[in-house]
Formats: sequence, C-alpha cells, structure tokens
Amino acid sequence: MLELLLPRRCVGCGIAGVTLCELCRHEWRNPPFRVDPRVDPRVPVFALGPWGGVHRSTVIGIKERGRRDAIPEIGAVLGAAIRYLAARGDLPASPGIVLSPAPTRRRVARLRGGDTVAAICQASGFDVVPLVYLAASVRDSAGLDAVSRRKNLVGSVRMYRRVEGWPKRVVVIDDVVTTGATAAATVECLSVAGILVTGVVALAAA
Ligand SMILES: [Zn+2]
Repeated sequence: MLELLLPRRCVGCGIAGVTLCELCRHEWRNPPFRVDPRVDPRVPVFALGPWGGVHRSTVIGIKERGRRDAIPEIGAVLGAAIRYLAARGDLPASPGIVLSPAPTRRRVARLRGGDTVAAICQASGFDVVPLVYLAASVRDSAGLDAVSRRKNLVGSVRMYRRVEGWPKRVVVIDDVVTTGATAAATVECLSVAGILVTGVVALAAA
C-alpha cells in the first residue's frame, strides 16, 4: 500500500521514479568475481559485487525495507551471473544447475514477508530447491568474529524434511558472504546428506 502513496525510488541510490536506475543497473552489471572468505567452505565462492554502495543499499532495501519490487531485477542479474560462471567453466553446467538459498531463520524470513534470497533465486530463471534453514536457537551473527560465528553455526544449519527428487548438486545462493562461516556450515550439512555444493554465489562480499 505504501507504494501507492510514495513515489517509487531507486533501491540503489534513492533517485525518484524507478525501481533501479540506469547507473545502479550498470553497477549490478559487473561480472561476478571469486572471493576467498576467511572460513574456507572448500567450494568456490563468487560475489556479484562489494558489500558497499549500490550493492549494499539494494540488498538492504530488498531484505529490510520491503523493496520486493526490485526482486525481479536482481533475480535477472543473478541468473545472468550464474550463466556467466557456467559459460566460463567456474560452475559445472551439466546436468543442469539448481539453486538453493542459504539458510535463514524461518521466523525472521516470515516476518520479512518470505525469504528474500529464495525469492531472488525464483526470479533468476533457474530451478530452485530450498534445502536448509537455521535453527531458531542460533544467535544473530552480527558482531561475532569468524571463530565465534563458526561455533554459533555448527549444528544450527538444518535440512528440511527429505522430499522426493532432491537434487544431487546445487549452487548455494546467499545475500552477503562475510566470514564464509554460513557457507561452510551449509556445504558441510548438505554433504552429509549426499548433496554436492558446486559453488556459492553471493550478491555481495564484505
Ligand atoms: Zn540508482
């Protein structure tokens, strides 16, 4: 309803009249690059941009400020990035790429009107299978260092109940990769279940 009352503003820079302006779109157009988080998830990790500027304001806008109108745009960018990485051989393209959103706390996701990373994955054009979530007991990792963050996450990444047709290989998608602890815990959890993570792609890297 708010959207009807307020003029639309660019989620990246705030300029009036558009969801994502041409300049911000240009920032998002940069190809993904490899990152090396401190906690090594033992699979290649890529990011679409730095955790700053347009990337940061876009992610925060979608995640915390209700800018779900930007999801189709960022979903398309994510789809292009996945195809780019596959074309370069950075992600195995065969037998087809399946995306799986990084775990979030379900209650938090509900409060925000759904898991925004999952929604961005859905808008990418690729198949999406949510496999993991964070146990309610896990603390918010903001302010924790890499070691505490890792301890906090061990055992708190949980799999959804097994359903038919789970993929054998997935690319894990996250909004921000910081220490790599979430990615590492997710890779570990999925590998125990026999699911290979071929790479992690984040919208931004801190
Ligand atoms: Zn803008």
